[in-house]
Amino acid sequence: MKIHDYENHPQLANVLTPVDEVRTVLDGTACFVLDMDGTIYLGATLFPFTLDFLTAVRAAGKRWLWFTNNSSRAPEEYLERLAGFGIPASRDEFLMSTDVALDWLGRERAGETAYVVGTPSLREAFAAAGIVPDDPEADYVVLGFDTTLTYAKLVTACDLLRAGRPLYLVNMDYNCPVEGGFIPDAGSLAALLERSTGVTGPSFGKPTRTCLDFILRRTGCRESGLTFVGDRLYTDIAIARDAEARSILVLSGEATVADCLTTDAAPDAVVRSLADLIPLLGVTS
Ligand SMILES: [Mg+2]
Repeated sequence: MKIHDYENHPQLANVLTPVDEVRTVLDGTACFVLDMDGTIYLGATLFPFTLDFLTAVRAAGKRWLWFTNNSSRAPEEYLERLAGFGIPASRDEFLMSTDVALDWLGRERAGETAYVVGTPSLREAFAAAGIVPDDPEADYVVLGFDTTLTYAKLVTACDLLRAGRPLYLVNMDYNCPVEGGFIPDAGSLAALLERSTGVTGPSFGKPTRTCLDFILRRTGCRESGLTFVGDRLYTDIAIARDAEARSILVLSGEATVADCLTTDAAPDAVVRSLADLIPLLGVTS
């Protein structure tokens, strides 16, 4: 149950962080911001160590928050999935890129309408937040991870961008991992819009500072007490690069040993998986 065979990579020992340094990161952590796919499960299968990791976090007097960049699904779908794994979570304990986008747009573009290129659940989230999601004369264009994309939506979005409306990306991931490989995500669709119109725009999920600030406000955590844990270098890890927050890369998902040797995302720690953290959480220094 691994995307790649990191265990047998000849350079594995060179990229793993010494245990004492990992423990220092854990000791300074009050709240873990946990990525989901590739970190706690792969596809439909929960990793065998995930529940033990969460138990160890709780026993150490620390807490966690779930955060996913995936803007194609409704939060309820994730909460159901977690509950199905035996991990009941409340809406307060689960945040996603869509939450960051709605918070920012609600404040900075108050009273304006949107043209949302996204799934029905993303458009419903906008409507529920009081933002018209399907105005063909919209004040701005929103692009999410639209697994229901049509050519007509692309044409309308490009028309609006050419007419000078700004573009906002709910998340900027290029691909979404699925069982058997990857499918194109919002960042790849944004490249298509940019190629056609020359217009690009800011995004809201990991790795943006907007996302980090949103999490700080919602958790009430000090930035130095926040540690992002995830399997993707350019989102889960990059968000903490120029911040007081820290990051732990797990090799159980997308990032490979070879990626670790060349990245500039600078994780504070690299471990095989959450399993490596369990014994270190049990020891306080
Ligand atoms: Mg992931």
